[in-house]
Amino acid sequence: MRQKIVAGNWKMNNTLDETKKLIKELKKELKSVKLKKDTRVIIAPTFVNLLTATKKTKKTKIEVAAQNMHQAKNGAYTGEISAEMLTSVGVKTVILGHSERRTYFNETDKLLTEKVNTALENNLEVIFCFGEQLEDRNSENHFKVVESQLKNALFHLKSEDIKNIILAYEPVWAIGTGQTASADQAQEMHAFIRGLFASEYSQELADTISILYGGSVKPNNAEEIFSKPDVDGGLIGGASLKAKDFSAIVKAI
Ligand code: PEP
Repeated sequence: MRQKIVAGNWKMNNTLDETKKLIKELKKELKSVKLKKDTRVIIAPTFVNLLTATKKTKKTKIEVAAQNMHQAKNGAYTGEISAEMLTSVGVKTVILGHSERRTYFNETDKLLTEKVNTALENNLEVIFCFGEQLEDRNSENHFKVVESQLKNALFHLKSEDIKNIILAYEPVWAIGTGQTASADQAQEMHAFIRGLFASEYSQELADTISILYGGSVKPNNAEEIFSKPDVDGGLIGGASLKAKDFSAIVKAI
């Protein structure tokens, strides 16, 4: 059975006190929620608050992920964070390839290949983000773009490594814009992505990969998007910063 996952990307938001407060509120909101089997809830606070987050969520339904990571083991990379540093504070999952990293920090498919490899070598699970720009969709190149992002960064991996990858399809035009993809558009792309994995690896493996949708998921549209057969959950930005909204999205899975 495929895992259902709701993950919150907090981005560069929340001080230490705000992190503690939001986690406290989330624990309260989620206390009475009975998660179905194979359903996971993940939050991704900023680096400096990861240790606090892993401590505060111990023995709860909430898991903690990092938002990024450097590809090198260690060394003279001022300001960077290694995979080993993440695991040393109890983090088990890392988001890689978010469109904001690709756009503002020039992260390329080649760099992301290195990051994915380093994460997996360090036993970190990866939430791998990808998705087309608006002009790609308007010119009907969205399938091609997504295929090349996946081919370039992931298809060198062995089947056993793919088990530690969660996919997050995030059309860039839908991130933070309030303009979500329709549930049918999400389903169409997710089915295409699963098909790519079936051709490259096997149908059996493709059927086990969780493919999350990301891009303006809110309490009022989560249920419809999550109802689609190839949508296994969501990567949530803005709505993950409010305990009530994030919990409502978790309840929709
Ligand atoms: C994101 O940044 O991954 C995201 C999906 O953001 P939002 O939900 O705010 O569109």
